[in-house]
Amino acid sequence: MNRIVTYLRVGLVVSAVVLWPETSLRANGGVKVVTTLPDLKYIVEQVGGSTVDVFAIAKGYQDPHFVDAKPSFVLRLNKADLFVQIGLDLEVGWVPPLLEAARNKRIYFGGSGLVNGAHGVDLLEVPQVDPSTMRAGGDIHVFGNPHYWLDPRNGKVIAENIYNALKAIRPDDEAFYRRNTDRFAARIDSAYQHWSTLMAPYAGTRIIAYHNSWPYFEQAFGIDIVGFIEPKPGIPPAPSHLVSVIKQMRDEKLKTIIISPYFDDKPAQSLARRTGAKVVAMAPSVGAFPQIITYFDLFEHNITMLLAAFRNSQ
Ligand SMILES: [Zn+2]
Repeated sequence: MNRIVTYLRVGLVVSAVVLWPETSLRANGGVKVVTTLPDLKYIVEQVGGSTVDVFAIAKGYQDPHFVDAKPSFVLRLNKADLFVQIGLDLEVGWVPPLLEAARNKRIYFGGSGLVNGAHGVDLLEVPQVDPSTMRAGGDIHVFGNPHYWLDPRNGKVIAENIYNALKAIRPDDEAFYRRNTDRFAARIDSAYQHWSTLMAPYAGTRIIAYHNSWPYFEQAFGIDIVGFIEPKPGIPPAPSHLVSVIKQMRDEKLKTIIISPYFDDKPAQSLARRTGAKVVAMAPSVGAFPQIITYFDLFEHNITMLLAAFRNSQ
């Protein structure tokens, strides 16, 4: 009896393995997409609907500059039809080795399946210096600040890039993708108008941030980040730097410090204790906190938290 059960199990396992590729193709049927960030995954799903099967490598609570490569990511990339990244040099520390290992020329550098969300974005903080002198400059982002998805209007640009890539793969679905992209853009427009109205009374409010992730958000919503807890991008603060930030906060009566979940919050908390400022836990990506499931939730959260802090400090 046991033996029969065992044979039966083996038989089932074997046929499941043999059948798997076919069933999976039929079930997923769609374009296999890998994205670096969950924000990109959300937008691919808005444009591609039921025709895409999307996996995001980074979690929204991870620092997108530093993501550990796992073998499972290589497997995903090996099978991917499209790979969507933020680009510039946000993922430069971890995407090139993953693409090397994946050996998939569709999505390798120069491949038609490699999509840069940044194409067409008006970049901020593009250094105005001679590239040959920049290598000595250490941490400067050579292409401009890469955190552009934090202006919701850039979500529309990202969607357009994804639309172009998807219609090239499935021309028959072009009209479907166009409708989805336009619908997403319309939702962004009306949400952005709503958020801007809420933020308008606080235009020009000066705040402190941990890392320089927010220039696009500042521009979109009219706030002004006047100092950083990090002395330079990627460098944790030394006590002497914190002393100068405390002085600045007292002199300029700064009442809000924004932080992201992947940074040590102790320096921010200590600054807040000494200056009476509030620490606001901002979401830098979809999935930064469990309740932030959509690209719209991301801005909803950040605006709500900021408004609460601004109202309390008046
Ligand atoms: Zn950064």
